[in-house]
Amino acid sequence: MTQENGLAKRIDGKAFAASLRVRIGKEVERLVRDHDLKPGLAVVLVGEDPASQVYVRNKGVQTLEAGMNSYEHKLPDDTNEADLLALIEKLNNDDSVHGILVQLPLPKHINETKVINTVHPDKDVDGFHVVNAGRLATGQAALTSCTPVGCVMLAKDTLGDLSGLEAVVVGRSNIVGKPVAQLLLQENCTITIAHSRTKNLEEVCRRADILIAAVGRPQMIKGDWIKKGACVIDVGINRIDAGNGKTRLVGDVDYQDALATAGSITPVPGGVGPMTIACLLRNTVQAACMIKGLDLPDL
Ligand code: NDP
Repeated sequence: MTQENGLAKRIDGKAFAASLRVRIGKEVERLVRDHDLKPGLAVVLVGEDPASQVYVRNKGVQTLEAGMNSYEHKLPDDTNEADLLALIEKLNNDDSVHGILVQLPLPKHINETKVINTVHPDKDVDGFHVVNAGRLATGQAALTSCTPVGCVMLAKDTLGDLSGLEAVVVGRSNIVGKPVAQLLLQENCTITIAHSRTKNLEEVCRRADILIAAVGRPQMIKGDWIKKGACVIDVGINRIDAGNGKTRLVGDVDYQDALATAGSITPVPGGVGPMTIACLLRNTVQAACMIKGLDLPDL
């Protein structure tokens, strides 16, 4: 692994995601040419949350750039649950739609779990459906949550074979912590999942050859929690006061502090974040291939 001036190598998720999107675009061209198959992604947004609107817009733009069809469904904040479920059923039965993503969080009056489990598992490009979580846990082919897939791709690109490495995942959410631990287990890592009740968290973190931080606490993980030379993948996205009347984004790891001990580290922004949409596009291509009975492309 290359290290400059004794400092950790910066893992460039933005560049990796851009190259992945190019590969996806080429695969889409091939599917259109050889199989008359143009993958389509439907994104459903309920309400006016500004951050969600930005995410949905970016997803739409990148889907079109990859040569796929993008369908956006924007519903008002007071949409009732039955109407949302009816729209999902319609998309489940629409042959031009291969992936369905319902942007979270949903308004409080809508049951998120019910919505997630109404998406057909074969079109569940977010990988949140209980069937896909079960397939992942049992080692069957599954659509897997985008951020965890992105984390493992970056770790493999940085370290190569992960077999036998100690991986510590801080955070046990269904959308990041648990699936990223499952994926690392599939890569033959030895896994520890830490959370808010973990004792001696600093010591647990110091065991890690690969440290995944998915906590949602700004700069919580300090440099001396990190084993010398470890690969640190920071999933956290936290907005903090920048001190000049503005705000800035930071991760769950204290990046500057970590540079001296880590061997490699993802920055925030520009690390895991860009991988999430690229992996969503990848999942949409995979879903389209699975639905059509084609072999899965190696992306
Ligand atoms: P959740 O809030 O769902 O989960 C946070 C986890 O961190 C929980 O398991 C919690 O433990 C654990 N935790 C909280 N405080 C501590 C603590 N002091 N010590 C140890 N563990 C703690 O968050 P998400 O998994 O949804 O997201 C995590 C972060 O990743 C957020 O910053 C989010 O914005 C970001 N994110 C980034 C994405 C991207 O595209 N880059 C995508 C998704 C999320 P417990 O279970 O015990 O409560």
